[in-house]
Amino acid sequence: ELVENANSIILRMDAEGSVTFFNEFAQRFFGYTQEEILGKSVVGTIIPATDSSGQDLTGIIEDIIRSSDGLVVNENENVRRDGERVWVTWTNKTFLDDEGRISEILCIGTDISERKQAEEALSDANVQLEEATERANQMTIVAEAASRAKSDFLANMSHEIRTPMNGIIGMTELALGTELTPVQREYLAAVSSSAEALLGLLNDILDFSKIEAGQLDIEEVPFDLRPTIEQVADVTAHRAADKGLELMFHLHPDVPEDLVGDPLRLRQVLVNLIGNAVKFTEQGEVVVEVRRATAPAQTSEVSKTSEVSQEQLELLCSVSDTGIGIPPEKMDLIFDPFRQADGSTSRRYGGTGLGLAISRQLVELMGGHIWAESEVGKGSTFFFTVTARRQAARAETAPRAVAGIDGRRVLVIDDNAINRRILCDMLHSFGCRSRQAGDGDQGLHMLQEAASASKPFDLVLLDMHMPGMDGFQVLEQIRNTPQISQSVVIVLTSVDSLPAVDRRQDLEWAAYLTKPVKQSSLLDAMLEALGEAEGETEAATDVAIPTTPLRILVAEDNEINRRLATILLEREGHHIVTAETGQAALDALEKITDQGPEDQFDLIFMDVQMPQMDGLQATAAIRADQRWKHLPIIAMTAHAMKGDRESFLEAGMDDYVSKPLRSQDVLA
Ligand code: ADP
Repeated sequence: ELVENANSIILRMDAEGSVTFFNEFAQRFFGYTQEEILGKSVVGTIIPATDSSGQDLTGIIEDIIRSSDGLVVNENENVRRDGERVWVTWTNKTFLDDEGRISEILCIGTDISERKQAEEALSDANVQLEEATERANQMTIVAEAASRAKSDFLANMSHEIRTPMNGIIGMTELALGTELTPVQREYLAAVSSSAEALLGLLNDILDFSKIEAGQLDIEEVPFDLRPTIEQVADVTAHRAADKGLELMFHLHPDVPEDLVGDPLRLRQVLVNLIGNAVKFTEQGEVVVEVRRATAPAQTSEVSKTSEVSQEQLELLCSVSDTGIGIPPEKMDLIFDPFRQADGSTSRRYGGTGLGLAISRQLVELMGGHIWAESEVGKGSTFFFTVTARRQAARAETAPRAVAGIDGRRVLVIDDNAINRRILCDMLHSFGCRSRQAGDGDQGLHMLQEAASASKPFDLVLLDMHMPGMDGFQVLEQIRNTPQISQSVVIVLTSVDSLPAVDRRQDLEWAAYLTKPVKQSSLLDAMLEALGEAEGETEAATDVAIPTTPLRILVAEDNEINRRLATILLEREGHHIVTAETGQAALDALEKITDQGPEDQFDLIFMDVQMPQMDGLQATAAIRADQRWKHLPIIAMTAHAMKGDRESFLEAGMDDYVSKPLRSQDVLA
């Protein structure tokens, strides 16, 4: 009864494999009645001759009989009466008669078709997975090729677009330098600013694609932090001044200045953030601060040697504005590519939404992170950190007193507290003593008081743009007050009010500085104003580039660019010979070498991409020749891809200028 009602296949057969018992479950399962199957061999009924993989099953009974202990567990494919294949796991036991011969075999089976199906599905899946992996590998190969193609495309596109841009920007610059009617000037100025905007956009897109393609590397070069930060002022001051915004750079005194890192990329992020701050601010100020993110490690005086100089440090930079602000729900979004806080503001302010995405990528590549805090209507502050190392050789950042001006007493008159603080930090680093006044009245009062106490100030730094009494009025009063009329005054002015200052030479200011004030300019101006300059010092601002007429060979295949370079250089009094290819440049050199020493070239400007013989090949040929081994060669390049700079220098070039050519870069 138990056997009949078991939920398993149970059958018995004799030593020949003929069925002698077939339980009810077996009958239901295989579709044979007891009568139909009794006396029949299992092979040929429920055991097919071969399974679906082609394996012979006819010897299965013999295998069981041959087993040593009489117990065999196996799994095989069986077949129902209707022909359907099923998988069964069997436990088979042989029984012996009194003489020790096999008398019968008892088998208990369980249907495992489902498990088998699952296994098959799994193995199918595995096969598919393998195929998919194979396809993915192929796709990776294709993708790598595509990415290479993309970067080649970028390099080419960069070159192709920059070449005409070079023409547009350069020629416009030249045209703006000629006599024009006001209307013509306005039109050309619009061409110029549009071309600059287009170039900026092109650079952004290139940068972004390069970062996406993993092609942008962060450099590790020694650099000085202060000039790096202060150069940012050169590109941003005008825009801030145009909008009447006060732009300030505050490099905190605890930040070491001799660092190893990527100054170009650091500057790029700052320019981006300052550009935004200026763009989204109608009035007020933009303050750039650089400080240490972590307090400097407390090191004893004794161990101020190599470990200290190798120290890693984290800089915290911030750019705050008093502009329109960013709503909290847009905070995360603005760092994504092509996203802007508000479509309507961007239409009003222009932009692509790439700036912050690039900044974020760059900051992350430099081992830092970027974030922002903002209040709508009040302003925004963007923060970012970067890690940098100290340069190995130099470890000292203690204020270095400057001979001639250390110990001098300086009064800073400026309405802006941050600006006063920045100036005082700089003065302190020169070894000066400083006092501050927040407006003209206070300043005049302090000057008089000091004079009465016979401790007059040696110098006044006077901001020209102040509410209430402005700098001009303060200076007039100084000149008209006998006790203090002889004060030495350096005036601080924005770029766009420079002409107004220039017209008031009668106020006898000793020097002027444009804001934001650079430490080095301040130092130069002070040395000059206090009459302690050794020999000649350059004017504090607007460094003129001295021109000794040079003989210059310009190798460039593009006609417009060739003319542009020629005009630029001839305008400065240089003598120019041009060549259209690398070979032509070599020929020109060869020809000149036979002539007198006064005819020899002083310098070559060499385009990199030229037909037949390119700039790199021509440079190699020149360097290989004893006569021209040391002739300075400057590459002119539209290349903007990583590694290009190295390849120029490796090829033996001394320096490079990138296109579009700007007269200032070329002359510098
Ligand atoms: P773009 O300036 O070209 O639009 P960005 O990626 O530089 O692109 O900036 C994305 C968006 O973030 C801007 O469109 C603007 O909405 C917002 N934003 C960035 N900086 C500021 C800021 N200083 N003040 C207000 N909004 C800002």
